[in-house]
Amino acid sequence: MELEKKLTALDRIYKIYDEFSAGLDVACEKTCTHCCTTNVTLTTLEGYKIVDQLTAVGKLGIIDRLTDLPHLKRYQPRVSINRLAELVAADAKVPPENPAETWGPCPLLKDELCAIYDQRPFGCRCFVSRQNCAATGFADIDDFTASVNTVFLQIIEHVDREGCSGNLIDLLPVMSSDNSQRAYAKDELKCEDSGLIVNWQLKVLMIPPEHRTQIEPILEQLRQIKI
Ligand code: SF4
Ligand code: SF4
Repeated sequence: MELEKKLTALDRIYKIYDEFSAGLDVACEKTCTHCCTTNVTLTTLEGYKIVDQLTAVGKLGIIDRLTDLPHLKRYQPRVSINRLAELVAADAKVPPENPAETWGPCPLLKDELCAIYDQRPFGCRCFVSRQNCAATGFADIDDFTASVNTVFLQIIEHVDREGCSGNLIDLLPVMSSDNSQRAYAKDELKCEDSGLIVNWQLKVLMIPPEHRTQIEPILEQLRQIKI
């Protein structure tokens, strides 16, 4: 799939999610950053888009904050969400993940604000809570929204099925290199060589039976996207 088509599809996916999330009753605000930790993951397609947009506004230097942070504890996925869905559906053994503890604030936070807020990946966009996490100590997300979030993560990975996924701290510096961008545009980026995991084609959507009717209008919008 051509890169331009993938980027167009990603824009449309974000728009559909924005319309869905606009109807949610959540406590989230741009200046609320308790959920901004070192555990954010994203796909190479999202990373490419972020780098492209930062380059266009002369702010690619923001990514420099992510270099030389090997000591920073973070969640590094071992299998992608579509691969996980396939393993679970087949009742196969799922590789153990490292625990997703809260290890510290996201290095893209400055003065309590996200330096890439307008470009932030889906993993940040979908982190919502009905109550302020500062008061509760955890995100309070309803089960249906959690199912919707999973579906969007699966679809984004599917659009980027020739690409990779990984922690934001690992992936953005990779995608900010000219060589990686060229390799990615030709579907030749080697995930393992870059410390990332391989993306998978979508075969099984992880939607619990009780949400299948309610989620159908959203799925119908997603089906209209040419991917
Ligand atoms: S998920 Fe929690 S910490 Fe993040 S913006 Fe929403 S209320 Fe704030
Ligand atoms: S990229 Fe921005 S929105 Fe996402 S975790 Fe980091 S500071 Fe928060």
